[in-house]
Amino acid sequence: MKLYDFIVIGGGPTGLYTAWQLARRGFEGLVVEEHPIIGVPRYCSGVVGREAFERFSLPRESIQREMESVVICSPSGRRLRIAREDTGAYIIDRSLFDQGLYTRASEEGVKVRISSRCKDIRVGTRGVEITLESFGKRMDLMSRVVVIATGVNYAFHRKLGFRPPGMFLDTCQVDVEGVGFQEVEVYLGRMVAPNSFAWVVPVTGGVARVGVSTYRDSNLYLRRFLSSPALRERVLKVKGRMKRKPIPISPVERSYRDRVILLGDAAGQVKVTTGGGVFYGLLCAEAAVDVLSEALRTDRFNGTFRAYERLWRERIGRELRIGAIFRKIFSCLEDEEIERLIDFVSTAEGHHLVSTKGSFDWHGRLLLEFLKVPFLWKGAYRALKGYLKDLR
Ligand SMILES: Cc1cc2nc3c(=O)[nH]c(=O)nc-3n(C[C@H](O)[C@H](O)[C@H](O)COP(=O)(O)OP(=O)(O)OC[C@H]3O[C@@H](n4cnc5c(N)ncnc54)[C@H](O)[C@@H]3O)c2cc1C
Repeated sequence: MKLYDFIVIGGGPTGLYTAWQLARRGFEGLVVEEHPIIGVPRYCSGVVGREAFERFSLPRESIQREMESVVICSPSGRRLRIAREDTGAYIIDRSLFDQGLYTRASEEGVKVRISSRCKDIRVGTRGVEITLESFGKRMDLMSRVVVIATGVNYAFHRKLGFRPPGMFLDTCQVDVEGVGFQEVEVYLGRMVAPNSFAWVVPVTGGVARVGVSTYRDSNLYLRRFLSSPALRERVLKVKGRMKRKPIPISPVERSYRDRVILLGDAAGQVKVTTGGGVFYGLLCAEAAVDVLSEALRTDRFNGTFRAYERLWRERIGRELRIGAIFRKIFSCLEDEEIERLIDFVSTAEGHHLVSTKGSFDWHGRLLLEFLKVPFLWKGAYRALKGYLKDLR
């Protein structure tokens, strides 16, 4: 049986980027993707920070528009506009984005097997064997290392001794056609999206992506959101069906074992505050490429992937921890407290904090400042009480 240097399971952005970069370093590998078309179906809202495009050579052809502002809508319907002078983020077409990475990986020599679902993985001393189901046939393939970049499919975690992430957002999104979709809008409040937020992401030609994230029943909240006063007059047509999908918002406890690593959503490497996973996933992919290359070059696989876990936690671990604390507190806020938070951001002091400490991808510094604001302490107290109750 042919022995590949690497096999990546999952043709999403993290898997494709990793395969592309490993091939650039001279390793021979394969990506297996269960769907027939890369990037389809699309679930993502496609908001990706400018930093991602500056740091990685990403497919710019996927950019649909620039994002320079966001409108925050409070539970009572007040609107607060936060603008930047430069582009903070881009709104992208995730299908084109993934397909761009696929093209880059293929041009570098990576083989991509579409319509091929990985059914089983067995880790041995010489390598990792995987069983694929492809066009009605089963086949076994062998590789020196395997990257599990299967998104929110955790089918192999337990078998390989990993625990899946412990916390998820339940999300539901749909494309709509309508009027007045100019800026990204974020809606807060118990009626619209308890514990999280709803969004409107304008694309082009009057089309917007409208979605809700909550802890449960996101489909019901999305229906209600579409018929709310904020949207019902503006939405002229709902395009296609509502798509529901979980997003992991806590990282796995351990992301490696000999010859295998977990990456991206499969490892819970996602911004806890917003559920955005493309940039953090790519940062972790970058760490994975360094560690995998070294292991493949030296042919050493025993315990060597510990370095991967250390590297990615160094990059995003602090943000994930602060984000988790803030999310717990935010989940305990009453609507009036959310109103007060928005009041605070509207003041000169709040505005100064957001413009000096805020960043599209790094929220930790700003969140730590928010935690100093006394009216959030009630929420913090309730979060702590809930936490202690869970411990009992
Ligand atoms: C509604 C919604 C909105 C979002 N909006 C944003 C946003 O605006 N910005 C942002 O940064 N992030 C956003 N995200 C999160 C983002 O989509 C993910 O973090 C990102 O796609 C993770 O990339 P990945 O490569 O880890 O996994 P995925 O993109 O999920 O790719 C995994 C791939 O693995 C394949 N696969 C799974 N199991 C198998 C198997 N057994 N065999 C073969 N193939 C398999 C899947 O088909 C899939 O193609 C959003 C998510 C949702 C649900």
